[in-house]
Amino acid sequence: MQSVTEHYRGDAGETAQQLLLERVRTLYKHGPTGAYFTLAAATVLVAMVATRSPEVHLWYWLIAMGSVLLLRGADMLRYRRALEDNEGDPQLWLGRFTAGVLATTLVWDSFIWLFFPQLDVFGRSAVAVVFAVMATGSINMLAANQWLGSAYSILMLLPPSLVLLFDSGSASLLLGTLGLTWSALLIVLVHNAHRDITHSLQLSRQNRELTLKAQQRQLETMELNAELSLARSHLMDANASLEEKVRERTAELEHEIAERLSYQRELERMANEDPLTGLANRTAFFNRVRDAIEQKRMRNAFAVFFVDLDRFKEINDGLGHPAGDSVLKTIADRLKSLCGHHVVCGRWGGDEFVILQLGIERRRDIDILGDLILQRVAEPIDLYRATVTVGASIGISLFPEHGEHPDELIEHADIAVYQAKHAGRSIARLYQPEWGQEARMRLELVQALRRAIDNNGLSLAFQPIVSVPDMRVVGMEALCRWNDPERGAVPPGVFIPIAEESGMMPQLGRWVLRNACETTQRLCPDADGPLIAINVSVAQLLGDNFVDEVRRVLADTGLSPRRLELELTESLFADKLANVEARLQELRVMGIRISIDDFGTGYSSMSYLRRFPLDILKIDRSFVKDLASGGEPIVSTIIRLAHSLNLEVIVEGIETVEELQHVMALGAYLMQGFLLSKPMSPEEAYGWVVPQLDLAPPKAALRA
Ligand code: C2E
Ligand code: CA
Ligand code: CA
Repeated sequence: MQSVTEHYRGDAGETAQQLLLERVRTLYKHGPTGAYFTLAAATVLVAMVATRSPEVHLWYWLIAMGSVLLLRGADMLRYRRALEDNEGDPQLWLGRFTAGVLATTLVWDSFIWLFFPQLDVFGRSAVAVVFAVMATGSINMLAANQWLGSAYSILMLLPPSLVLLFDSGSASLLLGTLGLTWSALLIVLVHNAHRDITHSLQLSRQNRELTLKAQQRQLETMELNAELSLARSHLMDANASLEEKVRERTAELEHEIAERLSYQRELERMANEDPLTGLANRTAFFNRVRDAIEQKRMRNAFAVFFVDLDRFKEINDGLGHPAGDSVLKTIADRLKSLCGHHVVCGRWGGDEFVILQLGIERRRDIDILGDLILQRVAEPIDLYRATVTVGASIGISLFPEHGEHPDELIEHADIAVYQAKHAGRSIARLYQPEWGQEARMRLELVQALRRAIDNNGLSLAFQPIVSVPDMRVVGMEALCRWNDPERGAVPPGVFIPIAEESGMMPQLGRWVLRNACETTQRLCPDADGPLIAINVSVAQLLGDNFVDEVRRVLADTGLSPRRLELELTESLFADKLANVEARLQELRVMGIRISIDDFGTGYSSMSYLRRFPLDILKIDRSFVKDLASGGEPIVSTIIRLAHSLNLEVIVEGIETVEELQHVMALGAYLMQGFLLSKPMSPEEAYGWVVPQLDLAPPKAALRA
């Protein structure tokens, strides 16, 4: 689009054209006035002359003048319309206007030729004056075009002046001279007026240009303003979006920080909290004890409780891990309810919990908390399928009496738990310094036993099992012996529990199994020879590949499976029953016999006896001892029960002939005991001959 500035930035040609346009416009502007005055002057002149020499031609002349003026008026109207429509060539309009003016002057001049001769001096003078007035009056109206203005003046004044000059009479001469002089003066005046008009036109043009420029400036300013406000609005938009972005980013950052903080808190929590129970974990509890030591060094004592659940393993194995977890959570919640400003609870691992009691003033404070823990733990726990109760054994150590380091305090509380468990469970025991000594000795014993197992430091003793009526050796029980170089003979009652507690039982059992089979096959390869009865712990039975192990040992040693009897204790029934049953079944299929050792001392139930593939029940020595003092019904019941289930019975621990006769009278005939023989070396055992016993004839009453 062509800008305002460009439109008005004319070159010289354009400026001349513009000026011409202005001039034509000025001429036409004054046109109607000129025509009006011309008509008025002509009418006055005609009226004036007519009074002096009435002539009909005068009126024709006036009509001619009127016609010319009419034509000019039409031209002016036409021009005005053209101006409105902004069309037409200025040169053309100038020509038309000039033609109009010249036509008017010709009509004027015709007046001189037509009517001057008939007028007297006075009339001529009057006419000349009118002409002079017209010529003078036209200066301003026609000065826009210098040539036209001058021509008009000359054409109006020259003819009457010349006529007057050539007239006779001094007045005419004077008038003619005056006319010529006047016309010359008019030319100068026209020139001046033209100059002024040109100047004023230029001024007005400049003025218009300036106005245009100002308008253009204003427009530009407006444009700039518009651009500026657009830019401002863009800026504001940008600002707003920037602010929005900043807000968004800030929110994001805040979110990120919050997430990180919560992640950090989660990490801290995970580092310090037991995931299952939500109690403080080992590290966190240890740190709490350490803090307590640092803070309370000079002030009152505090206690560390070590709480070990009793028989938790039975629940875990029997009811499954989810049930076990549920029990642990419930116990943890109960312990939490005892926590507070002075009591801190933690989980040490497995079924072991730890409690720190601060601010102890009297010994009774410890007893009160201990009782409270025992009481709360022992409350029944409702599980999905059953309601169970667990007990706890508690060991307690005191700061500073029992140690000045967290490790020491916790270790001593742990030792006290061991004592509590051995003293019958579900009690709390305060650490005794001598137990530390005991524990240390136990630890040494563990290490010595491990060495013995590794370095063939164990041996076996065989104790015969005798069928009494025919005094035939039907079997041998292999019993483990440990003769320690430093300690001498360590009884199985001591080292077997230690091996169990320290997880060495599978290893020890493997050694016994292989040795007993090998020795038996070596000393008595007879396929119909006595059985070899081997004690197998439950941990060993359930250990990896036990059945394969037995198969391999039999294959390696060549012992017939029918000569092997495995003795298991009733604690079997407290374990993973399905697993146990499957393994026993496998062994049974191989032809191996299974016996339940120490029957009646643990927890057996009729249903287990029926369900499991068993061959023999071994009645424990404790029942035999009590035979004479009212224990008979138990033994008699066990024997009848066994027989009704098609199980054989071996009575253990027969020390006297009376005992032998008593159990025989109750229906048992397989015996084992000092009366017949103590455990001996395998060589002795196979060379051993059943002693001749002086048995009294059986009493009829007992038989009945
Ligand atoms: P147990 O399996 O009940 O073994 C019988 C125990 O009774 C043996 O004690 C034996 O010496 C003892 N005994 C036999 N007759 C009499 C008697 O007339 N009177 C008395 N008072 N005792 C008698 P021992 O050898 O001290 O073994 C103790 C326990 O150690 C065994 O009891 C058994 O449970 C365990 N044990 C021994 N060797 C092994 C083994 O190789 N593996 C496993 N798992 N346990 C073993
Ligand atoms: Ca046994
Ligand atoms: Ca036994």
